[in-house]
Parts: sequence; structure tokens; C-alpha cells
Amino acid sequence: MNLRELVNPSVLTQPVYEPGRPIEDVARELGLDPNGIIKLASNENPLGASPKAIEAMKAALEDCELYPDGGCVALRDALAAHHGVDAAQLVVGNGSNELLELLGHVFLRPGDEAVMGAPAFIVYKLVTLLFGATPVEVPLVDHVHDLAAMERAITERTRIVFLACPNNPTGTLNPAEEVRAWIERLPQHVVVVLDEAYAEYLDPVPDWTDLLTGDRAVVVLRTFSKIYGLAGLRVGYALTSLEMASMLQRVRQPFNVNTIGQVGAMAALADEAWVARCREANRAGGEQLMAGLAAAGLEYVPSAANFLLVKVGDGARCYTELQRAGVIVRPLGPYQLPEWVRVTIGTEEQNARLLEALRQTARSS
Ligand SMILES: *Cc1c(COP(=O)(O)O)cnc(C)c1O
Repeated sequence: MNLRELVNPSVLTQPVYEPGRPIEDVARELGLDPNGIIKLASNENPLGASPKAIEAMKAALEDCELYPDGGCVALRDALAAHHGVDAAQLVVGNGSNELLELLGHVFLRPGDEAVMGAPAFIVYKLVTLLFGATPVEVPLVDHVHDLAAMERAITERTRIVFLACPNNPTGTLNPAEEVRAWIERLPQHVVVVLDEAYAEYLDPVPDWTDLLTGDRAVVVLRTFSKIYGLAGLRVGYALTSLEMASMLQRVRQPFNVNTIGQVGAMAALADEAWVARCREANRAGGEQLMAGLAAAGLEYVPSAANFLLVKVGDGARCYTELQRAGVIVRPLGPYQLPEWVRVTIGTEEQNARLLEALRQTARSS
């Protein structure tokens, strides 16, 4: 049997996602104490989830012999109230990454195109390739999405255009009014996916609800992985039109979101004080990091989110050296930014450690 002859050929060329390295993995390889390692590689919330969410999830463990609520009814009702939309406009996924894949199931076939920035969140490209469609990458200008060039890249074959607001890995944000005018200019045959994984870090948090019921196909993606601190539970959601939501519901697995995740997400959503505290800590931590980077003579890209791009010269080498100092960051080779690393804004103490480690590596290179 030759397995390579049996598989769908697009699997053979499918690129593999490279996640931020787990703490245990680095500890094992370098012989370090895992308790002394900090991970600032995946834009997780350094303060963790709301204590109320953790309490609710512990209680929910008692019922784990039962299948989850396959329709996420209670969570969708809570999200509907939060956003002021109909619960039927919400689709909950196993992280917003699953929703990206569901969009591929619904819209992408071989020969179709999807327009995206470069560099933008790499999963847009992976999903497009997975369905045999063609990614059309439009270079960012000064680390910001070039909306006019993305508009020009749209053809008859374009099915989806992906826009991350703020973008990952750059942290940059196209102003909401420009995005709104751009969406209204786009041809009606393209689905606009606004990926707002970091929206809750913005002040004010953008509101696109009026666009969801208009004459453009718009899907807004949100997640519980970032400010809500539940990355390990895998819960994200789409806000969209009734019709689009019904299409996405058709292609998901019946029990795609686990019980603990649903319960945790509901409690996290309700704990607005915790969210506000995390947003404020992130703002202060961003200022601390930016001031420290400036003092160290390191260039960075000002960010609207909970991470920063830092220009270090040789990103791969800096990543390796920081790891030896017990600090895991993200190298950006896969994003064609070899001179940069991406660092998550941590607690005050974590930021201080990162800055010190960066100063050491800058000195030794
Ligand atoms: C982190 C992130 C997500 C979140 O993915 P989940 O599957 O919800 O954890 C989505 N989009 C972008 C741009 C991100 O940076």
C-alpha cells in the first residue's frame, strides 16, 4: 500500500500550523524548571480566566457523563443579550478556528479564491488551501491592511475576504469607519470575514451588528481565547445574518463545543469587571513594554491588541536565546517576518523579565 497515492493530493501540500511552544516542551528540552518559564507566545491572558468562570467550570465537571448542549442554547442566549442580536444569528465553534473551517466548508471549492492580507493570521491561508481554493495574499503597507489593494484583488472567483481587526501578528487596526466604507464598496458576491479575536481590548469595542442584516454577507468572529482567558477550552463564535448562521450550523459536528467550555464562556461573559480589569492591565503592560523597548533601542509596532511585534534582527536566534532565559516568544519565519518576534503583553513581572532577557540577547549579538 502506498498511502501517498491514496490520500487527497491537497493533503500532501498542506502546510502545517506551528503553534507557540508549550512550557513543558521547552522545560524538557532545555532541562529548565517549568515553574520558572513564562510563555508570551500565543497571546493568552496572563491574568487567566475570571475566578467565577473557574468556579462554574469546576461545578460543571460533575455532569460530564452527559453530552453537551449541542445547540449551545444557553450560551447563545447570553451572547444574543450581550450583543443585542437574535440568538439565531450566533454560531458557536470549537474556537473561532473551527468557524474559519466551517466557512471553508460552506464557501470554498477548487478554483475559488480567498483574499487576505500578508502577513495576517495564517489560518486563513491554511483553511483556503485545505479546501483546494487559492489564497490571494495582499501585502500590508507599514504593517497595516491595504484595504484598497484588497478590494482590487477581488475577482469573479473570490468567495471570501478575511480581515483581522486588529491584525495578528502585527497588532495593527484599520479604523472602523474605513472598514465600514470598504465593506459597503465591496461586490456583493464576496463574504467578508471580520476576525475580531482581540476586539475586547479596544475602547470602544466595535459594533457591527447593523451590518449583519444588511445587503452584504458579513461574518464577525469573536473568541473566548484571548481577553476571556479560556484558550484551553476552545470556544469562539460567529455573529452574522440568520441565513448565514443556518448554513454554518449545517456543516458543524453535533457536539462541537464541550460542556465545560460552554459553562466557562457564559460565566466569563457575565464577569464584566474581570474583563475591564484585564483590559486595563493590558494597557498598562503595553506601556511598560513599549517604554522598555524604546529605552533598549528596539523598534516595535504600536499595537491595538495584547501583543507587540519587536524588531530584533535575527528573530529565530532571538527566539532560541530567549527560550534559554526561560521566556517563550513567537518567531515569525512562517509569517515572512524573519527580523521580528511577536511577544504577548504579560504581567508587570513577566514584562520586566522579557525586557531584561531582550537586553541580554541584544548585548550578546
Ligand atoms: C488567537 C486568534 C484567534 C483565536 O482562535 P481560537 O480558535 O478562538 O482560539 C482567531 N483569530 C486571530 C487573528 C487570532 O489571533
